[in-house]
Amino acid sequence: MPPPCLRCESQRVINLETARKLGIAAGAMAGTLQGAYGSLYSPGNLLSSRQFPLTRAAAAVVAGASGGIAGAAAGDRLVVNLFPPGEGIPWLCLGCGHAFRELA
Ligand SMILES: [Zn+2]
Repeated sequence: MPPPCLRCESQRVINLETARKLGIAAGAMAGTLQGAYGSLYSPGNLLSSRQFPLTRAAAAVVAGASGGIAGAAAGDRLVVNLFPPGEGIPWLCLGCGHAFRELA
């Protein structure tokens, strides 16, 4: 059971730890797709590998992986910014946007 918001007593609060994991996953996925797509379909991107289609595919995989890492880091940073300082489980109220922690 999530605790009610300390400011507006709304029950609509989300666990920021969960949100962070979701943000990392979503960011990683978006970054991976974007990186792989970009290097496969942008002409002249990355290595000049017209003679080696396999290298081009490998480059797409590498770009996708690094894009995923960057995306995950971006998702992580985004949510970490919302974290209130201190100890305990971080919560974010969807009613008023107040972030607070509850000691377990
Ligand atoms: Zn609130």
